[in-house]
Amino acid sequence: MAIVAIGARPKSNGAPLQAMIYSRPIIGCDEPVSANRNLILKPIEQKGPNMSSISRRHILKSSGALLGLAALHPEFGHVAEVVGAPNNMPLRPLVAEVGKPDLVATDVYFHETNLATNGSNNGWVIFDDYVLVIDASYPAGAQDILGKIRAITDKPVRFAFDTHHHGDHAYGNQVLVEGGATAVGHTGVIEEMKRYETGYYGGQPGRWEQTANSRKDVKASRLKPPSVLFPQELIFDDGKHRVELHHFGIAHTHGDAFAWLPNERILFTGDACVAGPYNFVGDGNVEQWITTLEAARKLGARVVCPGHGPRGDGDVLKNQQDFFKQLRDKVGAMVNAKKSPQQIHDSVEAIGAELSSSSGVARYVSKGSLPGQVEKVLVEMTGQKFPEQQKASGSARLWHAHHHGLDHPG
Ligand SMILES: [Zn+2]
Repeated sequence: MAIVAIGARPKSNGAPLQAMIYSRPIIGCDEPVSANRNLILKPIEQKGPNMSSISRRHILKSSGALLGLAALHPEFGHVAEVVGAPNNMPLRPLVAEVGKPDLVATDVYFHETNLATNGSNNGWVIFDDYVLVIDASYPAGAQDILGKIRAITDKPVRFAFDTHHHGDHAYGNQVLVEGGATAVGHTGVIEEMKRYETGYYGGQPGRWEQTANSRKDVKASRLKPPSVLFPQELIFDDGKHRVELHHFGIAHTHGDAFAWLPNERILFTGDACVAGPYNFVGDGNVEQWITTLEAARKLGARVVCPGHGPRGDGDVLKNQQDFFKQLRDKVGAMVNAKKSPQQIHDSVEAIGAELSSSSGVARYVSKGSLPGQVEKVLVEMTGQKFPEQQKASGSARLWHAHHHGLDHPG
């Protein structure tokens, strides 16, 4: 059953008191709570939508009580400002503001990052005893969010979750690890790092060294791969907050994992889902990505915090999935019509125009990234690439743009 406590605390920034709901997790918490209950390494059973709706019903009852309390006690603030509210309760409005910590729910922050300077978006969750960070960004980004976290809480940043291995998400690990954190990731993150970060593992210079050539913050730092790994799920749960890290399959890379907050129904996706023309497909698999997004959609998120771009609701997952479905449909139709790689290459602009006419999908289309995306789908379907001269210009530029923070929208 749901145990709900309502409290209020002064905000360090002088903001008015806000009502807070603490919901004890109902799903998957039948493990005995040990003395060290902060980190449960035991895998959980897969949940279906039915289990989620049970929790929703229970929590709904409790939210009614809070509505009443807020009305009776104005110091709890207007009810529209209530945060930490599961399910039918209002969350903070979906207002994008790059570089400003975005309090999505009680103790849960989303940070839309300036991609050009600092890399990926971030999230952080303030547990009773520590802070869990979702994606460290580049070292400059890690320094930036560390300062912002410090302005909110003095609890230690103890865990840094890498949603995947890419530098704009994980190269900042070292900054957080030096401050006492442990980097955490799906086992696929390490496998990918061994594949691409060849310099770190004793081989020829790899991606880190390539990035260090153009980014001073990376050059002044070092790669710090995650050292706590999970094959499917890892759960953080202190009775007030629960964050489940889930690997649902191949998507943007072979090691993507999502951070799911079942109490608040908030999903942090890393680059398995983005909100804008940021889809780099070179390290993943578009066909399997669609399936992975389907699994993520089944969670029933109310808020989706993407790896790049502003946060949104559950439709962001669907929009990104539709983009890939339509992309595959269009390339597949040309493959079935026996079009050559050159002909498909020459049709990229027309494909882009068609995709741009589809609402919800248009924001994923950009001239810079579409050639690489079309080629990737062609490779997945036929094993054939674009003719050499086109391929080289397209994918090299894409790679450079994505991993050097240069891929602006539009
Ligand atoms: Zn990425």
